[in-house]
Amino acid sequence: MNPVQPVQIITLTIDGKPVGASSDETILDVARQNGIFIPTLCFLDGLISYGACRLCLVEVKGSTRLLPSCMTKVQEGMEVVTDSEKLKSFRKWVLELLFTERNHVCSVCIANGFCELQSLAEALGLDHVRLPYLHPSFTVDATHDRFVSDNNRCILCNRCVRVCSDIEGAHTLDIMGRGIHARIISDLDNNWGDSPTCTRCSKCVQVCPTGAIKEKGRRSVGEKFKRRDVIAEIARMREVKHEEA
Ligand code: SF4
Ligand code: SF4
Repeated sequence: MNPVQPVQIITLTIDGKPVGASSDETILDVARQNGIFIPTLCFLDGLISYGACRLCLVEVKGSTRLLPSCMTKVQEGMEVVTDSEKLKSFRKWVLELLFTERNHVCSVCIANGFCELQSLAEALGLDHVRLPYLHPSFTVDATHDRFVSDNNRCILCNRCVRVCSDIEGAHTLDIMGRGIHARIISDLDNNWGDSPTCTRCSKCVQVCPTGAIKEKGRRSVGEKFKRRDVIAEIARMREVKHEEA
């Protein structure tokens, strides 16, 4: 068993600015505390970090590879760069891949105007893609009486799986398959509407950054909305779990 390392107060630089931090924090934590923007998609405050979307990669002096800021703990004397031309180019490339792997036609999406993928594309200046669209055709699961799951809009951020498992404790949702064939399933790949485990809490709808999981009854473009109090509640529940552990 590894001995528990004591938490220390350290200093590092982010984009040349000296900042203080606690040694148990990540680069992303410290950047956000200091008003420094690092784009994220799979990260959500309150959920266990997943490090899959690769949008939050940063440069760290001495490292030959880019590091995910949501998973990398700060260290004394670390020199972090969050906004170089190399990073801008890499992040746009990641977004291009996401836009071409599934069907993200914003003009006909229920999340238009409320979509984190769309917002990031605007923030990072992505106005076209250079890769061919794959146009996948996943089955839409509309069997649930309240929700719909459309894998054609999914970016595989895993937020819905983590909130369902770690916060709600139901573990109804999971990811099945690999690569471009990966998709969100309910229980053992059964109809969501037949799920004996789903509590109908709607947390998955609230954390989904795109229009991939949505509530029924909202059919028009731009009708998805986020209840911000739910996201804050998720973060608070995670803290309570930590305190109890
Ligand atoms: S509604 Fe709640 S229990 Fe059901 S799949 Fe979504 S997060 Fe899980
Ligand atoms: S359904 Fe939504 S929350 Fe779940 S993995 Fe796909 S994009 Fe992420």
